[in-house]
Amino acid sequence: TAQGNAASLPKSSIPGVKRIIAVASGKGGVGKSTVASNLAVALSKSGARVGLCDCDLYGPSIAHMFGSNERPYQNEEQQIVPIERYGLQLVSMGFLLDDDSPVIVRGPVATRYTQQFLRQVAWNDLDYLILDLPPGTGDIQLTIVQTVALDGTVIVTTPQEVALIDARKAVTMFQKVNVPILGIIENMSYFLCPSDGQIYHIFGKGGGDHEAKRLGVPLLGQIPIEMTVREAGDEGHPIALEDTAKSASSKVFHEIAAK
Ligand code: ADP
Repeated sequence: TAQGNAASLPKSSIPGVKRIIAVASGKGGVGKSTVASNLAVALSKSGARVGLCDCDLYGPSIAHMFGSNERPYQNEEQQIVPIERYGLQLVSMGFLLDDDSPVIVRGPVATRYTQQFLRQVAWNDLDYLILDLPPGTGDIQLTIVQTVALDGTVIVTTPQEVALIDARKAVTMFQKVNVPILGIIENMSYFLCPSDGQIYHIFGKGGGDHEAKRLGVPLLGQIPIEMTVREAGDEGHPIALEDTAKSASSKVFHEIAAK
């Protein structure tokens, strides 16, 4: 099969990058971009040189989460030069498109664009490149996992069964092309109510842990639902920049990065 062949093709690395890690989810809205951004920030704060690439052509959100509307420029070699923010190097595939123009590129064009794009960025000596994949298992994700030498992937899910079902599909995609699954991150695991001090499992309980055990991969962390996570994202200042003593989720992101 085409997929079988692709699995055995040599995959290429990306110039200027030591390790490439993809952040994936089966479903949209589970917090994949939030997790990718905050992991990148936490890794960077631990001293690594980190880049973050938003591969979501159809709904990019990394620029927003880093409060940037700067456009990257192209250097003399026609490479895209990443934007610097909080010490990270950032690029969105959507940076090259107009803010208000709906993206109407179809599968084959998106595939070609993705392949070109990933090789055209002038990353400056990165320890880690975090790829924020689009949700699901469509053309762009397949192109990336088949052509880029990923060192591993983390799968983001909520504890809810519908999110887990789709997460399983993403896991299967990575296993087919022999990309190691570093673990599962469960987002929106619980809500600690500030007024009564009770924990509420809004999207259910234990789903991420159960799935991780089933797959034999680690559950890397459980991130609570916190107003400050959403606010920080909207304000362009990811929560992982916050003191870990002041934010439970910032603490979890730093713990995951240390693994
Ligand atoms: P995805 O990339 O999976 O589509 P996003 O990262 O864009 O999801 O998150 C969707 C929305 O949920 C955003 O508004 C984000 O701020 C919010 N969000 C994500 N994780 C949390 C969390 N742990 N607590 C509160 N809000 C969150």
